[in-house]
Amino acid sequence: MDVTYRIEQKRQINGAFPGPKSQALAARRAKAVAAGVASSLPVYAADVDGGIIVDVDGNQLIDLGSGIAVTTVGASNPAVAKAVAEQAARFTHTCFMVAPYENYIELAEKLATITPGHFEKRAVFFNSGAEAVENAIKVARVATGRQAVVAFDHAYHGRTNLTMGLTAKAAPYKRGFGPLAPEIYRMPMSYPYREENPNISGKEAAERAILAMEKQIGGDQIAAIIIEPIQGEGGFIVPATGFLPRVAEWAKENGIVFIADEVQAGFARSGAWFASDIEGIEPDLVTVAKGIAGGMPLSGLIGRAELLDSVHGGGLGGTYGGNPVAVAAALESIKFMEEQDLAGRARQIEEQFFTRFGAIQKEVSALGDIRGRGAMVAIEFVKAGGKEPDAALTKKIAEECLAEGVLILTCGTYGNVVRLLPPLVISDELLGEAFDVLEAAIRKHA
Ligand SMILES: *Cc1c(COP(=O)(O)O)cnc(C)c1O
Repeated sequence: MDVTYRIEQKRQINGAFPGPKSQALAARRAKAVAAGVASSLPVYAADVDGGIIVDVDGNQLIDLGSGIAVTTVGASNPAVAKAVAEQAARFTHTCFMVAPYENYIELAEKLATITPGHFEKRAVFFNSGAEAVENAIKVARVATGRQAVVAFDHAYHGRTNLTMGLTAKAAPYKRGFGPLAPEIYRMPMSYPYREENPNISGKEAAERAILAMEKQIGGDQIAAIIIEPIQGEGGFIVPATGFLPRVAEWAKENGIVFIADEVQAGFARSGAWFASDIEGIEPDLVTVAKGIAGGMPLSGLIGRAELLDSVHGGGLGGTYGGNPVAVAAALESIKFMEEQDLAGRARQIEEQFFTRFGAIQKEVSALGDIRGRGAMVAIEFVKAGGKEPDAALTKKIAEECLAEGVLILTCGTYGNVVRLLPPLVISDELLGEAFDVLEAAIRKHA
């Protein structure tokens, strides 16, 4: 990897944490910002580069979150920043539905080549991951003339009305926000660590879900099956090998649109361009967002031409969808990922993670499971001697890391998973130091 850093890649906490400027901002925030928006960090960002977040008091934190898997190429990647400035100087917006422009087409062409699936494709762009998911369901319903949509246990697909219905976890995502959208059915996921039968194969786990779909809905009633090839918020759950291919095959046999929600796992994060590539599945539709544009808000829906083209003219769109500044950032981000082989970099991070935490797992029984792919890896914490989730320990470890200047996010249906999502431009040295801090926190509290 050939990256130069603007900010010294050094972890540093100066005195009180949060410092006085962050405390002052927190007080202003409490009087101005809706209480429903929570933040992981008690400090406020001032400057971000490589693997370092500098806060308003000059503290330097190691970033293992990437703004939730977004700033894969860095939060101030010079090539992305330049493309943004150049595009903004020409025009920031015309609305593609009013005065279309070239870079939208260029990004659609590019995504057709890098997304899974050897078939003719079309793409359409939006602003958020949730919006891409909503539109995938709209397209699947028009294309099939059916209504039922299948999602899985532990799924996360967003916070809008339709997508919070697809999301599995009630609190905090759905609680009190109903009524939820109808015709959503939830099926059992392949979650190898928590299977009742530890020997169940991926194919058998798929057959379990297929039987439930046949009995509870009927294959000919289902418009779409949507699944994250590696689940994100639900706990970085990697389904057993064979699960995804069998579900995709059954979808095809039944004329069901198979949608891979690659919003979190896509764009080199998993060590492949897309997590679907790992088992070679070819989803009919792919939703993308997060890592696509170096931090600029952009999402997309890419897939089979005949599906996307089945929608009537004017049926898809949105004022800002495929904003030219965000698209310029996406084109530069993708180029950077290719030139710097960030998928290869993610695989290096995966290896470093499993070597280090695999060894610790042998000594500390609280590390129930370590899993993930690429730079999307996690530790599931349990109480000693069993598999009972230990959310309190997980919280303590994440807080300890934070106090030491390492930003670590948690996730999981049971709140007992620490997830690592470093920017792929982080140096080995800084990543190793973050691992040291996490290891020390585990040994102190577990
Ligand atoms: C984050 C996420 C979404 C929602 O994306 P937003 O941009 O927050 O709307 C959807 N699906 C998956 C898998 C995600 O991780």
